[in-house]
Amino acid sequence: MLSQILSKESCANCRFCCSFRRCSLWETPLFDNETAEKLSKKGYSFVSDKGFFRMYLDDKYKTNDENEEVPCYFLDSKKGCILDEDTKPFDCKIWPLRVMKKEDKLVIALTPTCKEINKIPLEKMKAFVNDEVGKIIFDYAKNHPYIVKEYREDFPVLMYDEN
Ligand code: SF4
Ligand code: SF4
Repeated sequence: MLSQILSKESCANCRFCCSFRRCSLWETPLFDNETAEKLSKKGYSFVSDKGFFRMYLDDKYKTNDENEEVPCYFLDSKKGCILDEDTKPFDCKIWPLRVMKKEDKLVIALTPTCKEINKIPLEKMKAFVNDEVGKIIFDYAKNHPYIVKEYREDFPVLMYDEN
């Protein structure tokens, strides 16, 4: 969804957002029931929480180092993400954008840790989200409210939901 602004090559050379420290487990992508069930049959384990599913990565850490990163189940070191477009979580399709709740309003905010997106001026990102993908993202979030995260102060807001 963000291919206009984020090239596949940049992501292939980075993959930062497909590995997780313990403090970033809240950022792991969320899977719907049907997808988690389908993937569970292939041996992947998930934990359920209020109508959605997360990968269970908590027991994959080998050290007590808080900076240790554990890769997503679906990250292949050569091919990148091995999930097809139908199976890939919406969270991953829009990352580094996030739908968040800020003072009872839905907003689309920018995760500040993506180095490539940070090279793009914030005003340009705001225009892209408002003109191109914002409505699609809000519509999806209203039908799948589990993807909405609580707002974090260091995430710049790109668009407010006015409906
Ligand atoms: S952090 Fe940004 S550049 Fe890196 S893989 Fe994720 S989206 Fe791509
Ligand atoms: S599902 Fe794919 S895109 Fe999403 S975190 Fe895992 S490897 Fe990355």
